Amino acid sequence: MVAEAGVGVSETLPRGRGPGRAADPAAGPGLLGRRLYIPRMTDCGIEAFAAAFRSVGIDAVALPRPDARTLELGSRHLAGEECLPAKITLGDFLKVVETPGFDPRRAAFLMTTTDGPCRFGQYAVTIRKVLREIGYPEVPVLSPTSEDSYRELGDLGPELTRTGWWALVGSDILRKLLLKTRPYERIRGEADAAFADSTRQLCEVLQQPGLRRRERMRALVSALTRARDRFRSVSARYEKGRPLIGIQGEIFCRHEEFSNDQLIRRLEECGGEAWISDVSEWVWYCNSDQERVLRAEGRGVSFVMLGAKLRDRIQHADEAALMAPFAQDFVGYEEPAHIDEILRAGERYLPQSGALGEMVLSAGKVDHFFRKGADGIIDISPFSCMNGIVSEALYPLQSQEHAGIPIKSFYFDGKGRDIIHGLEIFLELARSYQRRKPHPRHYPPWFV
Ligand code: SF4
Repeated sequence: MVAEAGVGVSETLPRGRGPGRAADPAAGPGLLGRRLYIPRMTDCGIEAFAAAFRSVGIDAVALPRPDARTLELGSRHLAGEECLPAKITLGDFLKVVETPGFDPRRAAFLMTTTDGPCRFGQYAVTIRKVLREIGYPEVPVLSPTSEDSYRELGDLGPELTRTGWWALVGSDILRKLLLKTRPYERIRGEADAAFADSTRQLCEVLQQPGLRRRERMRALVSALTRARDRFRSVSARYEKGRPLIGIQGEIFCRHEEFSNDQLIRRLEECGGEAWISDVSEWVWYCNSDQERVLRAEGRGVSFVMLGAKLRDRIQHADEAALMAPFAQDFVGYEEPAHIDEILRAGERYLPQSGALGEMVLSAGKVDHFFRKGADGIIDISPFSCMNGIVSEALYPLQSQEHAGIPIKSFYFDGKGRDIIHGLEIFLELARSYQRRKPHPRHYPPWFV
């Protein structure tokens, strides 16, 4: 499942899991006069993404958080064998449809698609089918991608791509700040409040129309610096020793709280700290995979390759500019300098050329968390997700070859099962490993 796909992200999806062309005939001339609803696939990333759409004049909104009604509506139209994210996204769109006053002539939904083997390819198809069945065939389900030159977006695509990337990186930064602060706060709720305020401020900058790129970047760095200071001012007791748990797995489920039964909050309540794999990691992977495919096709020296390398460089430079204020704050939480480090580390378990998707990243990320001194790793996946199943089969060997670091897979099917017991046992294993781990953890300077 691809989070925050659609702009910036979607244009770089690897083959087999990337978005296909927007095949919806109902898309018509575009979004004029319509509100674009974006499914909530992460905590704050989708709000930022919607703000990026608004910056180019598209009336975009992030859908509210999923709830029991989401599942009820999603289940009503599915056979029961689909992945949980399929049920959640469909259910959330149907909640919009059942809103009093819903006007199908003024609404559009965003959902990327794929022509590859993953079931993600069926999401947009299914949503369109259900909309037809319930009498709303005129509601477009859009998948704007570079493959169709952003047909639905007209001239807005390139600008949106860049702002969308900034939205994604900015929201990754805010999520990191939240997760490294919340477990240590003295007053419950302070870190969440800082996160909500910071997200609002990030979105205010992202959604401003007519800003030149340099102006927007300056304003974003300033908003993120304010967010940094706001988090630093949260009353907290930063004591060393709390088990640090790397979180990886299927991208939608690991980032969407309702889908994963709030695993991260529960982990914190049980005494752990989470370090979750960024959404941008997926973009780096897609960039790398695009280059791999071009080389395999004999187009290693081509204009397409040149464009891909240029985009990668620009994205890295943008990320470095946005991350600059956080040198101290993210000590010990550094991501690899390049995605190839992760892909190389995972190569002997799951070669990039022989597999696709999160499982490739999960195979390599184990090594990164291990070397950064994490005390355990949790994989979050929807029940029956092929990414999760393949990864789970590899983890025993990976644990054995990484000094016995505990790795556990948690699967979710929307039934709201009790995960506390499993987390408590896992944290005991993590504490035991912490006493003998070969790589120490590094901390920001204010830890005692
Ligand atoms: S199989 Fe897994 S990765 Fe693919 S769509 Fe389903 S949940 Fe997402």
